[in-house]
Amino acid sequence: MTKITPQPGIMDIALYQGGSAHIPGQSNVVKLSSNENPYGPSDAAKEAYRKAGFDLHRYPSSDHAALRAAIADVHGLDADRILCGAGSDEVISFLCQAYAGPGDEVIHTEHGFAMYRISTLAAGATPVEVPERERVTDVNAILAACNERTRLVFLANPNNPTGTMIGEGEVARLAAGLPDHVLLVLDGAYAEYVEGYDGGAGLVDRRENVVMTRTFSKLYGLGGLRVGWGYGPTHVMDVLARMRGPFNVNQAALDTAEAAVRDTAWAVKCRESNTRMRAWLAEALAEHGVPSDTSTANFILARFADQAEAEACDLHLQAEGLIVRRVAGYNLPNCLRITVGDEASCRRVAHAVGQFMSTAR
Ligand SMILES: *Cc1c(COP(=O)(O)O)cnc(C)c1O
Repeated sequence: MTKITPQPGIMDIALYQGGSAHIPGQSNVVKLSSNENPYGPSDAAKEAYRKAGFDLHRYPSSDHAALRAAIADVHGLDADRILCGAGSDEVISFLCQAYAGPGDEVIHTEHGFAMYRISTLAAGATPVEVPERERVTDVNAILAACNERTRLVFLANPNNPTGTMIGEGEVARLAAGLPDHVLLVLDGAYAEYVEGYDGGAGLVDRRENVVMTRTFSKLYGLGGLRVGWGYGPTHVMDVLARMRGPFNVNQAALDTAEAAVRDTAWAVKCRESNTRMRAWLAEALAEHGVPSDTSTANFILARFADQAEAEACDLHLQAEGLIVRRVAGYNLPNCLRITVGDEASCRRVAHAVGQFMSTAR
């Protein structure tokens, strides 16, 4: 027996299950399991990436000034309080490392994103799962779960994998109701899909206890590059800046993200396509007897009668070359999370679910 052992909590982490990308023996596969933008990044972003290839011998910028300025311009924020990470996952990890340790509690909602639990355990702290109400965040339940050990509250709004969202008034009530020593983290990975929503930036500016995380992995179509960012009050950003490695985001990622965030026309186009196809897909599935909550993100959480039916439908979809996401690990065993693809993909999904349901019940 080795005496070399990791810190407490690490071995309680279940390995993250990514969305699969292949089906053995199938070509013409559509991947709808990781909430990726079906159209990919904008042409301006691809051009920036191509150009970055000529400077790979150079270390990246360590202050991320150009990308922070671009984000600040486009979103109307204070560039000095933006921090860039290798995906928002890294910002989430910094927050846990900085604010939670052994004996501390970190709250996430019942169907919250897996990385909250993973980063909490990696920091040696204890994840606390709070119930939702019918797959919607319950602010009262979060407030009731806070105690003197609570350090962080993670809330994705819109939430993944439910796709539901709570209103800005409810988020403000949560921020105002937390004990003084608790930091609220608003994960806005899907904020760009909600027209007119600032992801919580306004609340960050008005308060000392709210941080927002954002990503280039979803609407901007850059999941493969790993770029995200955080925005918070000065006292928090000063702490996170000390955690961050100087070269945590590579230059190709910085340049590409900068071009992507400035290409607002592409962002609007992708958002509008998503809104249209999401409504179409939800209605098509409902007509086949498969309901879903009103989604505010780029995926739909399709609900089946039970786990057996959800899994059988998933197998049928796989046979048709369609990869969606099982979410039993998120306490949603009777559901499948389906990314909203382009029109052809949505039609294939609706057709295959219809085929399945006509024989299932
Ligand atoms: C996809 C997703 C992220 C983004 O993670 P990145 O590390 O930026 O790719 C963050 N939070 C939630 C809830 C997500 O679904």
